[in-house]
Amino acid sequence: MTVPTPRRDTRLDRFVDSYAERTHGMKVSAVRALFAVANRPEIVSLAGGMPNIKDLPLGDIADHMAEMIRANGMQVMQYGSGQGEPCIREQICDVMALEGVSAHADDVMISAGSQQGLDLVTRIFCDPSDVVLAESPSYVGAIGTFASYQVEVVHVASDESGLNPAALRETVSRLQAAGKRIKFLYTIPNYSNPSGLTQPWERRVEVLQVCAEFGILVVEDNPYGLLALDAEPVPAMRSVDTDVIYLGSFSKTFAPGFRIGWVLAPHAVREKLVLAQESATLCPPVFSQFAISNYLDTSDWKEQILSFRAMYRERRDAMLTALRDHMPAGTSWTHPIGGFFVWVTLPEGMDSQAMLPRGVEHRVAFVPGAAFYADGQGSQNVRLSYCFPTAERIVTGVERFSEVVRNEIEMLNIFGVKAPARHPPAPGPGADIS
Ligand code: PMP
Repeated sequence: MTVPTPRRDTRLDRFVDSYAERTHGMKVSAVRALFAVANRPEIVSLAGGMPNIKDLPLGDIADHMAEMIRANGMQVMQYGSGQGEPCIREQICDVMALEGVSAHADDVMISAGSQQGLDLVTRIFCDPSDVVLAESPSYVGAIGTFASYQVEVVHVASDESGLNPAALRETVSRLQAAGKRIKFLYTIPNYSNPSGLTQPWERRVEVLQVCAEFGILVVEDNPYGLLALDAEPVPAMRSVDTDVIYLGSFSKTFAPGFRIGWVLAPHAVREKLVLAQESATLCPPVFSQFAISNYLDTSDWKEQILSFRAMYRERRDAMLTALRDHMPAGTSWTHPIGGFFVWVTLPEGMDSQAMLPRGVEHRVAFVPGAAFYADGQGSQNVRLSYCFPTAERIVTGVERFSEVVRNEIEMLNIFGVKAPARHPPAPGPGADIS
């Protein structure tokens, strides 16, 4: 019998006419190729959003996992519940209590990272051309998810305290008057990715009030909440309003490779979510859930989070000091009190996407701001992350970045080259930088 050779026609996508409409919003990033280069060791990457898990007690974790398989392999390597294992859902309630959230394990659903939680929330609520509101700028991975469901993302202006309630009110009134269906507000109140901004308590309450007034559901995405670098975390929005859908994750406070996040939702929504989860994966990763549950049981995880905080604090401080010492006049940046990111604003007319190849030439990588908008804004912005490189590398990276910006400003002054105000949207650049 002859086995047919697989066809490897890479010139044309032969299936182009067969793809579903909703795939048209899924685009390969224009900057992905550059990020492959950015992984070279001589390049300091201030682009990646990867947590630094180097300090985890890997030996201990390995021992506990081996023991877990020996003692309980038949359960931890089997299919499990579509909602997630009861033991970890109980423990998650204790984790959320640290941010003032009081919840019952019945209302928690486990997901494959909070990313899948967001995907399922979008799946159960959104039809094509529904509107989701998101702050300006917003998380690249969320924008990708919304695009894949053909949702229209409308950005709401932010100020130094995050999402601006007056702008929210104005945007909602305008959209509702135009007959648009707004399905929810997606917000990252703590140490936002990419802006690094945090909504103070009063701001959260105001945002919730506007949403309640207009009947708009709030989706609170909180993967960085426990990584407060200066003061204790501000209580979550879900702590005041039990109708808020809350997304949590172990990716930043433990390790992203397990792919375990969760959704806390009002009971009826949770039931729909579990149906969606069952059709997506049958059940979320069982082994990972037991591994994390075991870690929470056997380690001093709160102490581990404190040590992560100290490590990220040192890196954040290194970045802010280096920016202050090296960045040219006319630039500004946020001062995060938690999380991983600093958001830089460049002088008007600059084009951060066009600047990236120059950055790579200068051996530094960053993420151009347009990735964090669904509508082509952001060409004047850059996201820098301090989570992965050491403090020393961060300082080198910021020195190089500042040099690139200085050159770019000079070019602009000499030639008066004006970047186009809006690019076509730059889609998600992939997990390593998200
Ligand atoms: N939300 C935000 C704001 C993020 O920054 C990330 C990861 N970069 C996620 C959600 C997804 O995290 P995970 O799926 O690993 O839980």
